Amino acid sequence: MTHATAETSCAGSAIARIFSEPVFPRQIFPLSPLATLSPFPPRVLVVEDEQKTRESVAEGLRLEAWSVATAATAGEAAEYLEREGFDLVVLDRMLPGGDGLDVLQRTRARGVETPVLMLTARTALDDRVLGLEAGADDYLAKPFAFVELLARCRALLRRPVLGTGTVLRCGDLQLDTRARVAVRAGGEIPLTPREVDVLEYLLRAQGQIVTREMLERDVWKQTHRFTSLDNVIDVQLMRLRKKVDGDGTEKLIHTVRGLGYRLGKEPA
Ligand code: CA
Repeated sequence: MTHATAETSCAGSAIARIFSEPVFPRQIFPLSPLATLSPFPPRVLVVEDEQKTRESVAEGLRLEAWSVATAATAGEAAEYLEREGFDLVVLDRMLPGGDGLDVLQRTRARGVETPVLMLTARTALDDRVLGLEAGADDYLAKPFAFVELLARCRALLRRPVLGTGTVLRCGDLQLDTRARVAVRAGGEIPLTPREVDVLEYLLRAQGQIVTREMLERDVWKQTHRFTSLDNVIDVQLMRLRKKVDGDGTEKLIHTVRGLGYRLGKEPA
């Protein structure tokens, strides 16, 4: 089944495309429970040079009542990201005019923390690790099924189920799980949605060893994969640790060699 191409009327310039209005009123459209938590549709930028993929992804996300902008080149993507705020970016790696990785690096260098899902035709682990090191929050290897892309987008946009706010603490580190804001020594730590998820998990398991398998199952929600996520998780933990334990503060996130990680005041 192919998605209708709603963009054909303005196919001349991808950059000229504007956010679409939700296809249906949100109240009557069958949205996932997660999607109904925010009254506003997520604003998503889809960067992909292959027209068919770009348009079918954009159309699929619009059917979720999300606001979607598209870019076909590295230049267009950079322009969009400098000009507008997004809730999520789906970013292809190999683009006319540059590498998606460079776009990502430059965007992160400006302090933009928007979650990024990298698309890559490459399946070599090195490339995925490279993407995560450059600041991507997740990756998806091509070819992919739209439902998988959607699931990953939803995971990156995930907001906590509304309930009583909980502040988790360890020393001078605290995380408000409802506002999803982490603070250390009075200063807010800028975290991506995935990093908040990982930090919450570590804080809830405070003092205990958290294995990569636990993170893979409970945070990445992966029950079966062709390849292990170990390296991906290690890179994410490295980035989280840099943010949480940087600047000469007391180390709270510890590597437990051969097993995983532990958050606590003293190394095991
Ligand atoms: Ca490409």
